[in-house]
Amino acid sequence: MSRSQNSPDGADVKVALVIPLFNEEIVLPLLIAEIESFKKARTENIQVIFIDDGSTDATVREVVRLTTGIQAYQLIRFSRNFGHQMAISAGIRMCQADAAIIMDADLQDPLSVAGQMIDKWQEGFDVVFGVRKSRSDVSATQRFTAFVFYRFFGKISEVDAPVDTGDFRLLSRRVIEAFNQFEEQQPYVRGLIAWLGFRQTGIEYHRPGRAAGSTKYPFRLRFRLAMDGLTSFSTRPLKLAVNLGLLIALGSVMGLIWVVLTKYVFGTAITGWASLIFAAFFFGGVQLFFLGIVGTYVARVYEEVKRRPRFVIQDTWESDKKEASNGSKPNY
Ligand code: UDP
Ligand code: MG
Repeated sequence: MSRSQNSPDGADVKVALVIPLFNEEIVLPLLIAEIESFKKARTENIQVIFIDDGSTDATVREVVRLTTGIQAYQLIRFSRNFGHQMAISAGIRMCQADAAIIMDADLQDPLSVAGQMIDKWQEGFDVVFGVRKSRSDVSATQRFTAFVFYRFFGKISEVDAPVDTGDFRLLSRRVIEAFNQFEEQQPYVRGLIAWLGFRQTGIEYHRPGRAAGSTKYPFRLRFRLAMDGLTSFSTRPLKLAVNLGLLIALGSVMGLIWVVLTKYVFGTAITGWASLIFAAFFFGGVQLFFLGIVGTYVARVYEEVKRRPRFVIQDTWESDKKEASNGSKPNY
C-alpha cells in the first residue's frame, strides 16, 4: 500500500476534529483554547466540526461567540438530542478533510494524543485508536464493569474489536468513505470501525477526568450502548437459548425416567413435591429471560425496517461566514 493513497503529503493536509456537544457550555472556552494552541503546533490544516446534539444550555451561543471570525470551525445543529453515536456519525458524514479524529468535548481525549494519531496516520495507518491504559475519570466499579464488558464483547462478538477503547480515534479518508455507507439506526461506532478492517493501530494513553462540567452518559445510556454493541455484533445470545433449551429438555427426560423407575421398579414414591413450584418458577424465569432476548433483537429489526431518517439537522454554521445554511439569520 502506498503512502500517498492513504495520507496526502504537503502543507495542505486537512484534518478535522469531530466533536459532539451536549450541554457543554462550561467546557467550551477551555476546549477552544486547547484547539487553538494545537492548531499552532501542527503543520496540518486543522478544522473542527462541532455537532450540537440538542443542547438546552448556551452551548450553541458559546460556540458562535468564541469562534466567530476564527478559521475553520463548523457547527451542525441537530433538531433535538439524537445521542452521542448519531452525533459522531453525522460529523463523519459532513467531514471533507483527509482524516477525521473523533473526540469528546471535555478534554478527556487529549490533543497531544490526537497529534500522535496524525503522525501514525502519516506513517500509513488508516485507523488509529486510543487505548485507555489507565484512567482517573470513573469509579472503580465503573472501571470494572467496562473491563468485563470489553472482554465479554471480545469473546462473543463477530468482530475483532480492540479492548479498552472508546470512540477516540483517527479515520483516514477511505475509512470515512467506507463508514458513510453504514445506515444503522443504532450504530455502535467503535464496533463498526473495527468491522471495516484496513490497517489499524492503537496508542496507549492515560484518560484524565473531565476538564469541566458533568458526565452526559448516565448509567442508562451506558447500558444501552453496551446492548447496542452486543446485539449488533453478535447473535450468540439467541443461540444460547437453543443450547440451554436442549439441555433442559434432555435433563427433564432423564428426570422422568428416574421418576418412573423409582415408582414401579423400586416401589418408592418420591416426596418433596413443594420443590416443584420453585422449579416451575425457575423455568418461567428462564423462559421470560430468553423471550426478552428475542424481543431485543426483534426491536432492533423493527427500528431498522422503519427506515426513518437517522438524524435531523436544524441548521449549520461556519465560523468564517455570517449566515446559517438556510439563508435565514440564525437565532443563536
Ligand atoms: N454527548 C452527546 N450526546 C449525548 C451525550 C453525550 O453528544 O446525548 C457528547 C458529550 O457532549 C461529550 C461526549 O458525547 O462530548 C462524551 O460524553 P461524556 O464526556 O459526558 O461521557 P463520559 O466521558 O462521561 O463517558
Ligand atoms: Mg467525558
